[in-house]
Amino acid sequence: MSKNPAVAEIIEKYKPIWALDSASALLEWDMETYMPIGSSEARGVTLAQVQLMKQQRMMQLVNPVTSAEKMGGLNDFEKGFLRVMKHDLDYYTKLPPKLLEDMARVGTEGTVVWREARKKSDFNMFKPYLEKMMELKKQEAEKLGYVGHPYNALLDRFEEGLTTADVDKVFTSLASGLKGILNKVVAAGRFPATHPLESIKYDESAMVRVNTTVLKLLNMPEKTFRMDVSTHPFTTSMSIEDVRITTRYEGADFKASLYSTVHESGHAIYELQTDPSLDYTPLAKGTSLGVHESQSRFWENFIGRSREFVKLIYPTLSTNLPFLVNYNEDDIYRYVNSVKPSLIRVEADEVTYNFHIILRYELEKLLIGGKLEVSELPSIWNDMMEKYVGVRPENDAQGVLQDVHWSGGLIGYFATYSLGNVIGGMFYNQIRKDMDLSNVIAKGEIVRVKGWLKEKLHKYGATYSPKEIQTRLFGEQYNPQRLVNYLEEKYLA
Ligand SMILES: [Zn+2]
Repeated sequence: MSKNPAVAEIIEKYKPIWALDSASALLEWDMETYMPIGSSEARGVTLAQVQLMKQQRMMQLVNPVTSAEKMGGLNDFEKGFLRVMKHDLDYYTKLPPKLLEDMARVGTEGTVVWREARKKSDFNMFKPYLEKMMELKKQEAEKLGYVGHPYNALLDRFEEGLTTADVDKVFTSLASGLKGILNKVVAAGRFPATHPLESIKYDESAMVRVNTTVLKLLNMPEKTFRMDVSTHPFTTSMSIEDVRITTRYEGADFKASLYSTVHESGHAIYELQTDPSLDYTPLAKGTSLGVHESQSRFWENFIGRSREFVKLIYPTLSTNLPFLVNYNEDDIYRYVNSVKPSLIRVEADEVTYNFHIILRYELEKLLIGGKLEVSELPSIWNDMMEKYVGVRPENDAQGVLQDVHWSGGLIGYFATYSLGNVIGGMFYNQIRKDMDLSNVIAKGEIVRVKGWLKEKLHKYGATYSPKEIQTRLFGEQYNPQRLVNYLEEKYLA
């Protein structure tokens, strides 16, 4: 907590801003889950107005934050608070309102057109919007300022302090490590590319029972957490005392629903285990998208797809899903860990997933650096898919048009997915120095794992920057070798 009166005063003034954020989060959650579809326009207006109120209040804090920053003798909490405030304020002070407005407008229009373009697999339809968005993003980078590559300005919005130099180093080494693993896994055929279970239909209410049992196993709190349903699963929090996830039920391939639930629970555990003293401040959240994703991936893959976890949930799976009568624990383990070079990122497995991200990162860097035209995207995309994953899209819907991110202006976001896997690998390496993880999972002692993560990471919220918390925890930053070692051990041993 803050002992410095100047900082304490800013924190007090931040409270209404926190409340606006909390209200927006609830409105957005409602929009994705229960809102009648007809009110989407009004909800859009409401959210835009709340955003405007937030911006006005934030601007009043520019001077107090700037002068407080110059004071000495601040504790870690105070330094973290001012760091996060400065990072957020930068956006409002450096970007002209006209640019923000243009990005919001092109983003909304572009997303509508993108949906149609993807349906028709027609890149040319989407092209003018993406060209406009890329121009605006280049302007954004110029206004925000950067050292080195202009793309650094955009990366920093999602992962504070991240640069192309960092990512180039991580991805080069990750790509070569993964390529070797992928070739061997495919050649050995021990983890099947397709599995009969993928097409077997499940009863939705039975799957709800499975997911509910898994939440109990993960010891998710009953009074401060809930799960609902949405097309694209997500996690949101209104406060440390109200964290919500959604999951999906597509009717077949039960691992999709199961691991969405575990993935989002990983995000939720991070939020729920933040120290309560950080509530109502901007520190009551994960420190970056990459670190947040490390938590969801840690639970989904390193824990959730382990042999021990599969064994732990096998009784509830076989009780609720009668078609599993012919499958044993080992069959399920191989089913949830299938490795299949495929075209679609969101369906990719642990080994091939990162190639999908590396490709997107390379393309964004070239576009923002002015080395690639939007019109060249579809063909270079397909070439890179063939080079990295070994498959070539037959149309743009399966290729360059598959993700929503670019249409809304999320440039610089993709890299954090793979950095999440990389940091997840670092957590996996570290926790095994302190406990026999396989044995702990086998015994269902999930609370021990949660307790460890809370002490190492969760309780701090955003007090430390992503690079700083990694150095404190691991003595290194974004080391891809930990992930590569884990995958080698899992798939090649
Ligand atoms: Zn996630």
